[in-house]
Amino acid sequence: MMRWSTLGVLCVLVVSGCAAPASSPAPAGHESAPASRPLPAPSGQPAAGARPEAPVGFGNAAAFRKWGLEPMAPAPAAPRDPLKISSVRDPWIKEIPTDERIVFLTFDDGNEKDPRFIEMMRDLRIPFTMFLTDDAVKKDYGYFRELRDLGNSVENHTLTHTDLKSLDQAGQQREMCGAQEKFAKEFGRAPRLFRPPFGSWNDDTLAAMKACGLQAMVLWRADMGIEDLEYQRADRRLRPGQIILAHFRGPKDLKGRSLTDMTADLLRRIQEQGFTVARLEDYLAFDSTPPADGS
Ligand SMILES: [Zn+2]
Repeated sequence: MMRWSTLGVLCVLVVSGCAAPASSPAPAGHESAPASRPLPAPSGQPAAGARPEAPVGFGNAAAFRKWGLEPMAPAPAAPRDPLKISSVRDPWIKEIPTDERIVFLTFDDGNEKDPRFIEMMRDLRIPFTMFLTDDAVKKDYGYFRELRDLGNSVENHTLTHTDLKSLDQAGQQREMCGAQEKFAKEFGRAPRLFRPPFGSWNDDTLAAMKACGLQAMVLWRADMGIEDLEYQRADRRLRPGQIILAHFRGPKDLKGRSLTDMTADLLRRIQEQGFTVARLEDYLAFDSTPPADGS
């Protein structure tokens, strides 16, 4: 069986950042792993193979209770027939076709770098995808390497978080290819997924994606606010396979609450609707030969 390495999610946001992606944990060992297993320290080294290794499963019950949560149901096994990106007809992906009660988490931008969030994710082993903006993360790439080393992908959310529609194609390409180069160097693998700032894009964006080797635009169906989810659909409920946007935000943007408070609430909203979290990359089949570059 194959593993899919990358994925990305988008973030859009009206304010400053973007959300976080979710990924799915592997099915094994739900209750068996110790809660706080030390993980590889962040180093300048890219992860092995430049590709995150799948976590073996969620943290154990004690780990969830440490963060005020009930243990989360394990994610189902990864699908044998992941969605072929080349087969997607829309210019974006907002959900993955599935009957499983799973959603995918994405965390955007990178402004908040709360060490407790790393601790939380080491404990819980919840998969997610990071759509990072270089300006927000460049003072501390190491923080995001630690999260990557937990098995979470780093994807492209531009250099400066500019509204792409304000730029011509060459300008968009600088934002997107520039982040590709930075992240390939800093994280050991060039992103394959793209999320436009504010969810704002046009035809030039699609051309620039191709030129920069980005395979899919990942948007979202629900957006985590300070305490609750905001849904795009009128029924205000999660549906199988939806992608959720969250952001690396801290007390300044969360009315005094922390990134870990917000994440705990996000997980509760998912659990109370009978869902669990899966790894987006496991549900995507990437093109094996990315476009060379965009002339
Ligand atoms: Zn953003």
